[in-house]
Amino acid sequence: MPETLVLVDHDAGAPKKVSNQILTAARQLGAGGVAAALLGPGASDAAEKVGAFGADTAYTWDDPDAQQYDTEPETAALVAAIESSGASIVLYPADPFITDIVARAAVRTGGGVIGDATDLELDDDRVVATKAIFGGDMISRCHVVGDRPQFIGVKPNAFSAEEGGDGSAQVVPLDVSLPETARRAEIVEVHEEESGGRPEMTEASIIVTGGRGLGDASGFETIEQLADTLGAAVGASRAATDAGWYPHQHQIGQTGKTVAPGLYIGCGVSGAIQHRAGMQTSQRIVAINKDAEAPIFSIADFGVVGDLYKVIPPLIEELEKRQQ
Ligand SMILES: Cc1cc2nc3c(=O)[nH]c(=O)nc-3n(C[C@H](O)[C@H](O)[C@H](O)COP(=O)(O)OP(=O)(O)OC[C@H]3O[C@@H](n4cnc5c(N)ncnc54)[C@H](O)[C@@H]3O)c2cc1C
Repeated sequence: MPETLVLVDHDAGAPKKVSNQILTAARQLGAGGVAAALLGPGASDAAEKVGAFGADTAYTWDDPDAQQYDTEPETAALVAAIESSGASIVLYPADPFITDIVARAAVRTGGGVIGDATDLELDDDRVVATKAIFGGDMISRCHVVGDRPQFIGVKPNAFSAEEGGDGSAQVVPLDVSLPETARRAEIVEVHEEESGGRPEMTEASIIVTGGRGLGDASGFETIEQLADTLGAAVGASRAATDAGWYPHQHQIGQTGKTVAPGLYIGCGVSGAIQHRAGMQTSQRIVAINKDAEAPIFSIADFGVVGDLYKVIPPLIEELEKRQQ
């Protein structure tokens, strides 16, 4: 009987990188078997891919009427997956859409929720999660008390995805009976923001971020050039997005996206606490700032004190030389 259920986020039948990371984390946790819950359009296709990352069983729900991110039906399907698997631990990607579903499923199953975990360990049958609190000023270790299941949201890139399952999961279609009230919303249009061919920030293993130190919007051309050399996503501070230099969906921080890439490069970013809240769990932080006293240097693994326009072009040149 699987002990850990991973809610797999997938895109048109392809599990997202974060889902493979969490399946790997579930396997490493060693709480017993690992099951995957795949909900919405493309669930069956995605189910074929979760075995490679360690899922023994894949619970699928791709009702022909299912819409991506339809809260009520997906909540009912997640509850059905929890009941069918008997899982006491539910791991999910810490993402606002998924948290919406998980919060409701937790209420219905009497469970407790911990979001934004960056590390997991097992203490008997409880999961102890590590997470940043108070805007990243403190690190806490916490576990769910009282009723089970334990719902733990895992931040993207907190774990690396490593294959390790036997390659195929047993697929179990869920039988979800939806009351009429579960169909109270209809998605009439989905507008995908242009990514410009770059990875999505929460999926990227490298993010190059520009701040007010760029001076004006044209500075983002330099940031994009560096990002493209590294195959990275582009992030921005709120000062840069508020100034209209870069779209708001690229904002990192307390009121922007939370990211945890393998490598974060902050260029002309001071490292205000609200910005740090969204990026300080990055595995490696590199800062380029002309002010040696900038707060970002206190959390940076590597820092360059200098004018970003003098530092970045030779950096790009050197990277391109090494890639040849
Ligand atoms: C409620 C609230 C929520 C907020 N949420 C967020 C959030 O989600 N994300 C966020 O980012 N901010 C957020 N902020 C804003 C935050 O407090 C800072 O104002 C913001 O992060 C500053 O952005 P910045 O570092 O780009 O700009 P600045 O603080 O102006 O820093 C610019 C840096 O660039 C350096 N610099 C200047 N020129 C150069 C150059 N040529 N080369 C190299 N370095 C140079 C300067 O030394 C400076 O350190 C929030 C604020 C509040 C009150």
